[in-house]
Amino acid sequence: MQTNETADVIVIGGSYAGLSAALGLGRSLRKTLVIDNGLPCNRTAPHSHNFLTQDGVEPSVITAIGKAQVAKYPTVSFVDDTAVSIGGSDNNFLVETSTGGSFSARKIMLATGILDQLPAIKGFRECWGKSVIHCPFCHGYEYHSRPTGLLMNGDHAMEMGNMISNWSGDITIYTNGPCSFTPSQLEILQQKKIRVNVNRISQLVHLDGQLQEIQFENGDKDSPEVLYHRPLFEQKAPSLASLGCELDTAGYIRTDEFQRTTVPGIYAAGDNSSGFRAVSMAVANGSKTAGMLVRELLQ
Ligand SMILES: Cc1cc2nc3c(=O)[nH]c(=O)nc-3n(C[C@H](O)[C@H](O)[C@H](O)COP(=O)(O)OP(=O)(O)OC[C@H]3O[C@@H](n4cnc5c(N)ncnc54)[C@H](O)[C@@H]3O)c2cc1C
Repeated sequence: MQTNETADVIVIGGSYAGLSAALGLGRSLRKTLVIDNGLPCNRTAPHSHNFLTQDGVEPSVITAIGKAQVAKYPTVSFVDDTAVSIGGSDNNFLVETSTGGSFSARKIMLATGILDQLPAIKGFRECWGKSVIHCPFCHGYEYHSRPTGLLMNGDHAMEMGNMISNWSGDITIYTNGPCSFTPSQLEILQQKKIRVNVNRISQLVHLDGQLQEIQFENGDKDSPEVLYHRPLFEQKAPSLASLGCELDTAGYIRTDEFQRTTVPGIYAAGDNSSGFRAVSMAVANGSKTAGMLVRELLQ
């Protein structure tokens, strides 16, 4: 399609969820415009795991294969830009971009992912995706049976400590300040031989992103080989508030089982609308969204 035509669907975000939706839309002969600014959340990870047929492949290679496959469908076009606003309403949306582009569409799909707010600990950013990781299913195998740390606290640390004991029996929870465990939680951790360290972290010492040592403000040191952390996040999709697109209590875009947001004509899929953070989930929900969009476009 020509980018100055009204698209059936503008997909904002051209990573796993967005490309998966664009594939389904292209194969349904639907005029689809994918706007993407090339910053997927997993870009610091050297390898992506646990996605069938692509286990251990570089994240950018998976995206490149996907984009090449989608680009074969003539009704799909791509724009490399940042969508900065979405206006209008169902069947008459307008998306504006940071370079002054203006694109119209009947429907919108948000596949924008989330923006991780990494803690301001020296060395953390350099290790993120390499030896500081968010998910044991994605990277836990590579560190199984190794000294393992969790940078978390409270109920979340309890849940993850239990889960990660599947991969390692040598676990320390670093609360980076006072811990918020109840006495009974501390008892459970003791029974499971999970240590708790409440010292404040001053820096992560690393070699090319491989964690060597955690240094604490009191001068202590510790040497887990991997650190799990689930950062806080922000939405990256523009205009959510002005459109009236509701978020749930955890901060995800609220969708129904068909990926419809609370705004008619706007769909969302991938990390922006689900805590199940995995390439396979983003691809599955992107594909489902395409099906639902085609159905709605026929009404
Ligand atoms: C460090 C790390 C490692 C991971 N490793 C694995 C793994 O090994 N296996 C696994 O299954 N999962 C892994 N994940 C999770 C997986 O990467 C995500 O679940 C997946 O990327 C979600 O896909 P998505 O399309 O929803 O979002 P993303 O992949 O984050 O893509 C969002 C896209 O939207 C674009 N975008 C956002 N806003 C705009 C805008 N306003 N205008 C234009 N474009 C925009 C971005 O540039 C980006 O290209 C990892 C995550 C992280 C953070």
